Amino acid sequence: MHKHHSALGLAAALRPVQPVTLIRPHAAQRAARFFVEKFPGRSLYAVKANPSPDLLQILWDSGITHFDVASIAEVRLVSKILPEAELCFMHPVKAEEAIREAYFNHGVKTFSLDTIEELEKIQRATRHASDLTLAVRLRVSSDHSKLSLAAKFGADARDSAELLMATRQAADTLGICFHVGSQAMTPKAYLEAMEQVRAAIVAAAVTVDLIDVGGGFPSVYPGMEPPPLEGYFQAIHDAFESLPISYSAELWCEPGRALCAEYASLLVRVERRRGDELYINDGAYGALFDAAHVGWRFPVKLLREPESNTRDMPFSFYGPTCDDMDHMAGPFMLPGDTKAGDYIEIGMLGAYGCAMRTAFNGFGDVETVEAEDEPMASLYMDESEDPVRKPGTVVSIKRL
Ligand SMILES: *Cc1c(COP(=O)(O)O)cnc(C)c1O
Repeated sequence: MHKHHSALGLAAALRPVQPVTLIRPHAAQRAARFFVEKFPGRSLYAVKANPSPDLLQILWDSGITHFDVASIAEVRLVSKILPEAELCFMHPVKAEEAIREAYFNHGVKTFSLDTIEELEKIQRATRHASDLTLAVRLRVSSDHSKLSLAAKFGADARDSAELLMATRQAADTLGICFHVGSQAMTPKAYLEAMEQVRAAIVAAAVTVDLIDVGGGFPSVYPGMEPPPLEGYFQAIHDAFESLPISYSAELWCEPGRALCAEYASLLVRVERRRGDELYINDGAYGALFDAAHVGWRFPVKLLREPESNTRDMPFSFYGPTCDDMDHMAGPFMLPGDTKAGDYIEIGMLGAYGCAMRTAFNGFGDVETVEAEDEPMASLYMDESEDPVRKPGTVVSIKRL
């Protein structure tokens, strides 16, 4: 793989025709160490956010030993790359064949569920194994998050007592898990969910050995600057300590976005300008799904030397396919003289960026290059790198 000192240097030297994924291993390493050292429990990586083998290896080398997988393909992938990793199959609706293969061929013992039917399926598929960790997924509110995960999965309060009691009978270790929605903008999201956990435990009167607060930890994007992660960790710790659970109970979390958003950015070329619309060579069917379909705003930067001194103005983007839906409204703030042939870096695409790429209309090809410069924004810069910054404070979008 090529290595470059900076995104600008790469654009100038290679003038790539296809989009380039810029990866920053040091940024993923920094995020993983932050969670490993500061989260008051165990941090699992949610593989769906970015299943790249390089990233999985970096996270493992940085102390992440448990991985939240949701499909049999993710199980196979992680067990191949990291044979000693502990895999947790946290999709509440699984194929029976997938459970069987995960348990018997890959040693997976941790599963989530949100119905009696899924509990029975897990029992059948594992031939009533007695060494299972079974986590009941509760439905909690996504009110404090930018992307809801409240509709599809999770047992409601009125069903959870019966389900917890039945799962207690089947499980060696009984857990409760939830997901507050992705990009939770306040620690309150977790506090409110933990109150629902408390109510569920009290109603079921069962001994719970594991609380898994899921993902949802934020990263930083234009217009979405969350408070420091330490505040989330403290709130979760305090709520966990006050739950009526066994003394030896464990606390887990499953960050996806927060561990990998800073890991990658995207280098694109402007192929055409029409007023305030830029036609670029990646889009909704590539790494910009969220920018197109949920209006996510990613930081952008014109990579030109000498730097443009024209004032920024708002642009929208069109992707390369022939589809009108291949449109990213933004607004993306770029110098007013941005033109065809220019290169733009789109930042914070390590999570739910490269992972969503398709080959629709012949535009799936992308090169990957390692960059040594800093991501366009970071939640993890520490004092050793910049004495004015405290660990975990939000660093605003940084011009390189
Ligand atoms: C998607 C997902 C995660 C990761 O969520 P982030 O918002 O990226 O942190 C964790 N757990 C489960 C069960 C998920 O579905």
